[in-house]
Amino acid sequence: MNLSKSRYCRGIQCPKMLWMDKYMPEKAADLGKEQIFETGNIVGDLAMGYFGPFTEVPYADDKSEMVRRTAELLDSGEENICEASFVSGNLFCAVDILHKNGGGWDIVEVKSSTSLHEIYLHDMAFQCYILTRCGLNIKGVYNLHLNSDYVRHGELDLGELFTLEDCTETVFAMQADVPSNIEAISGYVDGAGENEPVMDISPACEAPYECAYKGWCARHLPSPSVFDISRLTAKKKYELYYEGITGFGEILERRPKLNKNQYRQVETAFYHLPDSIDRQGILDCISEYTYPLYHLDFETTQFAIPPFDGMRPFQQMPFQYSLHVQSAPGAEPEHYEFLGKEGTDPRRALAERLCADIPEDVCVLAYNMGFEKGRIKEMAELFPDLSSHLMSIHDNIRDLMIPFQKQYYYSEKLRGSYSIKYVLPAMCPGDPELDYGALEGVHRGDEASAAFAGLADHTPEEIAAIRKNLLAYCRLDTLAMVKILDKLRELARAE
Ligand code: SF4
Repeated sequence: MNLSKSRYCRGIQCPKMLWMDKYMPEKAADLGKEQIFETGNIVGDLAMGYFGPFTEVPYADDKSEMVRRTAELLDSGEENICEASFVSGNLFCAVDILHKNGGGWDIVEVKSSTSLHEIYLHDMAFQCYILTRCGLNIKGVYNLHLNSDYVRHGELDLGELFTLEDCTETVFAMQADVPSNIEAISGYVDGAGENEPVMDISPACEAPYECAYKGWCARHLPSPSVFDISRLTAKKKYELYYEGITGFGEILERRPKLNKNQYRQVETAFYHLPDSIDRQGILDCISEYTYPLYHLDFETTQFAIPPFDGMRPFQQMPFQYSLHVQSAPGAEPEHYEFLGKEGTDPRRALAERLCADIPEDVCVLAYNMGFEKGRIKEMAELFPDLSSHLMSIHDNIRDLMIPFQKQYYYSEKLRGSYSIKYVLPAMCPGDPELDYGALEGVHRGDEASAAFAGLADHTPEEIAAIRKNLLAYCRLDTLAMVKILDKLRELARAE
């Protein structure tokens, strides 16, 4: 079989992935990796200039054309060749940056992450193996990744934006294992033919990358299984699985060490117990809220390369909020909203509007408040003139998630989760006003994030339609909070 560096790394994680790619690709779940791939491309393109002037080998379906062009560039005295391509037997790789180092070359692998991961070392070891077999004198092997401490001020400083990690020693030490790895991966895929190989699920299904075939390979598990237990680490789930504990019935029989909330999830699901309600607990939480009450929700997006001053790689950038204000418990709320202008830094305008919409010293409600508080604190640091008002909002936020986190209300429908996406349909089933599925274009936070990040690339008509969708989505998030709070009050009052 032909192996590229990405296929080699997939094979290192689990050779069955390559078999599935070949014979059962239709079993792959959509893990929504498109945006991650795009991010990788943007970072890769920018990193090409890290060492100065460079020449890029153009992509061609015919890999031999890329190899031929690379050979020309090697002969021409180029200092930096990007996508430098090599073939050795059935092995192919394109090196992100091949950088001249005296009489030899350095391999530089670019990643859009902010740290070095073990799988990258395998990637680099594979490239080093091929290039050495092609007769190149490899002097160094480096991983070039983003520096999470970099804060943009003016023009991008590539020397500061990226961190160059020397992996030469480790990658050289890994060279001896590459041929046996290649043999094992090829043997596994070719040896199995069309018969699905037997490979049990393992922690390799989760990391370094979540495997899209997990649903298929785990089809022997009961539903629900130990893998559905909320807030249990993958390590612990596999420990239980290896002990032969798969279904909730086995958990109840053998009583492994789980916390109280996890046992409640298991027992409620197994015996189909009715909803459990701790009225006093709910009352204690909601009696902390004072009126007027400001239900607040932010939408944010992230960029690998910080587009604006004061931003770090992958920093969450708030671009929108929705605010429902209730003057008294159960009162009809008033709605306020903000959505930044596409292609601009929305943070200053957002912070100003937030201060105009929310007075100091009022009670603000968020769902999972750590997120909203984090963004407000960042804006307070960025805009000292608004800092005292923003920090007053920050200090007065209460968390609507607490009653669910503490399981003062628990329903089988929550499946152990206290995410609002589970809580809402459990608390307000069938309410057509709260149907995220009926929204157009934007139904989830990640879709909102992607929609705003790419908004400036659309036509004015498309922008108007997407903005409308974003506003409708975010509005629903805070309306959901209003309705959930109404329900909590109802539950706390009920005899
Ligand atoms: S789900 Fe697990 S066993 Fe199946 S192909 Fe993926 S990594 Fe391999």
